[in-house]
Amino acid sequence: MTKIDVRLKTYSNYINGEWVASETKETGVSNNPANTEEIVGEYQMSSTNDLDKAVKSAGNAKKAWRKLSGDVRGNYLQKAASVLEERIDDVALTMTKEMGKTLPEAKGETARGVAILRYYAGEGLRSVGDVIPSTDKDALMFSTRAPLGVVGIITPWNFPVAIPLWKMAPALIYGNTVVIKPASEAAITCAKVIECLHDAGIPEGVVNMVTGSGSIIGPEISNHPGVNGITFTGSNQVGKQLAQTAISRGIKYQLEMGGKNPVIVAKDADLDLAVEATISGGLKSTGQKCTATSRVLVQSEVYEEFKEKLLAKVAEITVGDGTEAATWMGPSVSQTQLDTVVSYIKKGKNEGAKLLSGGNKIDEPKSNGYFVEPTVFEDVTSDMAIAREEIFGPVLVLMKVDSLEEALDLANDSEYGLSASIFTTNINNMLSFIDDMDAGLVRINAESAGVELQAPFGGMKQSSSHSREQGRAAIEFYTDIKTVFVKG
Ligand code: NAP
Ligand code: MG
Repeated sequence: MTKIDVRLKTYSNYINGEWVASETKETGVSNNPANTEEIVGEYQMSSTNDLDKAVKSAGNAKKAWRKLSGDVRGNYLQKAASVLEERIDDVALTMTKEMGKTLPEAKGETARGVAILRYYAGEGLRSVGDVIPSTDKDALMFSTRAPLGVVGIITPWNFPVAIPLWKMAPALIYGNTVVIKPASEAAITCAKVIECLHDAGIPEGVVNMVTGSGSIIGPEISNHPGVNGITFTGSNQVGKQLAQTAISRGIKYQLEMGGKNPVIVAKDADLDLAVEATISGGLKSTGQKCTATSRVLVQSEVYEEFKEKLLAKVAEITVGDGTEAATWMGPSVSQTQLDTVVSYIKKGKNEGAKLLSGGNKIDEPKSNGYFVEPTVFEDVTSDMAIAREEIFGPVLVLMKVDSLEEALDLANDSEYGLSASIFTTNINNMLSFIDDMDAGLVRINAESAGVELQAPFGGMKQSSSHSREQGRAAIEFYTDIKTVFVKG
């Protein structure tokens, strides 16, 4: 097997510590959504045989990896963090060119990736169990944690550094080996992250990456007998299919999926703050965050004032290539995503919602990219598709409410429950919201899209498998508890 330099335009799979081409000899093209004529790189269109090799490599490596101390495993993550930190500009630029988010956002995400590696490196030295008093006074009873073995990881394109790392880092520190299948739309960025782990000297077989079509190799990740657990972030449709296979095989699974996240603006809110957070939460990353704000529920007393302020700010948004300093919002990630956004805008109009701003593809002078205007609707009712379904684009829907109670009822009238925020200065409003809002992330006077790496992350209802990622919560998925009883 020859080692291929990933700085070349064609990126390889990473199996057993080496960069290898797929046996199919086919590659896929990753292009720049801000300029579709620019090719960012090519990646392997792998077969299930390639995947099989990766799973076997992870299987062979798992015994030795789990025998290392947490401290030693943590040192590899520390080294990888330093390598990624040195390459932050290159990785961020690759991300912007590959999936379109602006360069400052891409840099912020890559820096987050560094911090995630460091956080989980530290986990190697923290407690993994409890001493539990036994009824036998001469016995010692305690709980400890065992890794699952080989963890299969499937990731989306919208956070192509942070999501792979917030899955790989905890998997590795708790003693698992991994096989990752990144989203095709962001396979090159993921390859660059894997290269950091390789250059940090991670032992061969501990980390493996196989790229290619999700519908070909994806199902096999949860179906392969050598995979002991699967973690997935992406759409509900795919997540549920993977979970069914995992259940039938009796392996652990974890799903993080969609959202239709509300913000409530109470009559006593700081409206400037609420406007800023609604725009940032709803339209940054072109609305392509699972935690993006999409439903805006405003109390009638302040509705008109809020709307005016919001529209004035939306009119200032500059759309363009994310590498340009003047750009605030980049393109949609792909033609498919752009078509989805445009079709929802059309649906909104047909269902009787009133378009207040935007609503069009931007063809000139940017005809080579997947650009769409930031869009705001009003007169939206909760039975409309634009109020119920995840659009994953820069579309906000305004709904007028007469009371906080009505706002909460509407906010909860969704199959999703990932993130929600409220803007209010009233403590009783805050307490009702904390109590009554069915969402995994509940945020007060802050945008719906904020996530901190040291805190649990995940959703209720259809947004997740009711497990949590990140922070200390990650240990729950990546390990099994062992209860130990010792008598001398
Ligand atoms: P997606 O189509 O479900 O893709 C996610 C991943 O699954 C990609 O790696 C994809 O590979 C792979 N895949 C596709 N079909 C598969 C199959 N049949 N079996 C196994 N894997 C398969 O989702 P997406 O369009 O990339 O991302 C958008 C969705 O992700 C949105 O619904 C969003 O809410 C959700 N999301 C959720 C979170 C969260 O944390 N809750 C975060 C980000 C995104 P290919 O790229 O090769 O198709
Ligand atoms: Mg692309």
